[in-house]
Amino acid sequence: DREKIMMTGVLSLKAKKIRGVMTNLEDVFMLEANRIVDDELVLNVYGYGYSRIPVYEGQKNNIIGLVYARDFALPDTDSGKFTVRNIMNFCKHRYGTSITPDDSSYDVFNLFKKEQYHLGVVVEYDNTSEKDPRAKAIGIVTLEDIIEEMIQEE
Ligand code: ATP
Ligand code: ATP
Repeated sequence: DREKIMMTGVLSLKAKKIRGVMTNLEDVFMLEANRIVDDELVLNVYGYGYSRIPVYEGQKNNIIGLVYARDFALPDTDSGKFTVRNIMNFCKHRYGTSITPDDSSYDVFNLFKKEQYHLGVVVEYDNTSEKDPRAKAIGIVTLEDIIEEMIQEE
């Protein structure tokens, strides 16, 4: 029955690594921080249809924040007066920043619940140095990806 399926799904999450549920960076729709927000960009955002859009600076593996599609519905956002960075700093959405591909999906599920966010950036650390400055994004994972995994199991 359904409850049994759910329980099995939850248990299998413990073994399932983020690597297997995430969306790879090359498939992620992102925006560059310094890009001017104009009509064309807003249409592009709505065209893709994603609710959450990572913002990168320079290289795509350097994700520095997040914008929501709905942020672009704010007055004047398509006037060409603002950059993506302006919108990002104004709206300030929280997200997971230090999820790694070897993390268990179950742990990330609990992290999302605790922190109340729906998206995390999956990073890999340059193992020649310690932590943060060299963290490079390799993908994203959303609550949807994890729940999908949970209910797919039989
Ligand atoms: P919501 O359902 O809350 O409106 P959404 O449809 O934009 O959000 P999710 O439901 O969180 O996105 O995720 C659906 C799938 O799309 C997941 O596999 C997720 O990894 C992927 N995804 C989410 N955002 C992006 C994005 N900006 N670019 C590419 N893939 C994305
Ligand atoms: P996500 O979909 O990534 O979880 P969100 O849509 O819940 O984000 P954000 O805009 O990221 O909301 O807001 C950050 C925090 O503010 C979240 O913890 C959320 O629970 C809370 N929040 C969002 N909208 C409201 C609201 N209308 N009233 C009270 N709290 C809110």
